[in-house]
Amino acid sequence: MLDLIIIGGGPAGLTAGLYATRGGLKEVIMFEMGIPGGQITGSSEIENYPGQGEIKSGMDFMENWPEQSMRFGLKKEQKKVLKVEKKEDNIFKVITEDKEEYLSRSVLIATGSVPKKAGFKGEKEFFGKGVSTCATCDGFFYKNKEVAVIGGGDTALEEAIYLSRICSKVYLIHRRDTYRAAPSTIEHMKKAKNIEEVTNVTIEEVYGDKMGVLGIKVKNKETNEIRDLKTPGVFTFVGRNVLNDSLKDEKGNFICEMNEMGEVIVDLNMKTSVPGLYAAGDIRINAAKQVVCAAGDGATAGVNIIEYLG
Ligand code: FAD
Ligand code: NAP
Repeated sequence: MLDLIIIGGGPAGLTAGLYATRGGLKEVIMFEMGIPGGQITGSSEIENYPGQGEIKSGMDFMENWPEQSMRFGLKKEQKKVLKVEKKEDNIFKVITEDKEEYLSRSVLIATGSVPKKAGFKGEKEFFGKGVSTCATCDGFFYKNKEVAVIGGGDTALEEAIYLSRICSKVYLIHRRDTYRAAPSTIEHMKKAKNIEEVTNVTIEEVYGDKMGVLGIKVKNKETNEIRDLKTPGVFTFVGRNVLNDSLKDEKGNFICEMNEMGEVIVDLNMKTSVPGLYAAGDIRINAAKQVVCAAGDGATAGVNIIEYLG
């Protein structure tokens, strides 16, 4: 019988593991389906973690987190969790992709989120053949070429700036003429000489051939004018969807209370509506979606789980 199962090895899960084991829990396993670090490892840079020295890539920034969190006894398994079930006597059964079953007295879900699809014609067809959601992974393929970036939030603008250093030109395509991104990021983007803002447009299609993307057509919402941008790379950053499937029962109902966006409802202790089940990071309601906040949630959850297990 385990004390705690942590699902997800991003900033929230890793910090919870650190606090739970350093605080005395002995049998704690963290399931991470990929390499620990979470979504920030796909970011070109991070500069807003308190106390951070130099600006780093997300990958470099997370480098020391797994080792530190495992220093106090946290065990890590590289497996995807399929399902969490609550049994009698406040015990949870966690089922992993290889159909293994684990019993635990508490569970923390910290599965974060994945990129949303924008929904334009050609997005699915050319995904991985010119359409991408990761500038640090794929930007280099477009060295000295023109690319398009879709979105108006922090991610789109930051990744457009990153791509502007590699590519000859970046078209920043946004459906409105104001951005969601932080003012300092907007200012930074506007200073880049090779970023052209293409705002107030809808995406008609991304087109190409067997080899991949050849361009993107956008339509101005006011004039209906169509522009054909001949870019072989199209990067979409249009928000993210939380990963909550493991909290669904056989009938597809959630085992704890969620909001209409599929985020887990928690209190200030990161407690869900089910005793012993906690949630932390981007998956919870009202998350600020920042590394520091996810880490803070993880610490809060870790401390409160120790108290719950008493
Ligand atoms: P995540 O980081 O998403 O980690 C969740 C982990 O759970 C993942 O590793 C995933 O593989 C794993 N997982 C999911 N489902 C399962 C399952 N069923 N079984 C096992 N494992 C599973 N924040 C900032 O503060 N500053 C920034 O500059 C910044 N830049 C960003 C740039 C980009 C491009 C992106 C995408 C995000 C950025 N963020 C930034 C936001 C920040 O990365 C997130 O708020 C933070 O990573 C959330 O942490 P988390 O632990 O909740 O979730
Ligand atoms: P986001 O803030 O939700 O922005 C998504 C953008 O995509 C919006 O501009 C939205 O347009 C646009 N969009 C949504 N659906 C679209 C569609 N179908 N077609 C075209 N455009 C579409 O998402 P994000 O930028 O990924 O950020 C997610 C969270 O992480 C935010 O809370 C953000 O602050 C945080 N984050 C922080 C940092 C940082 O601190 N440096 C960096 C990255 C991310 P509208 O504006 O019209 O809605």
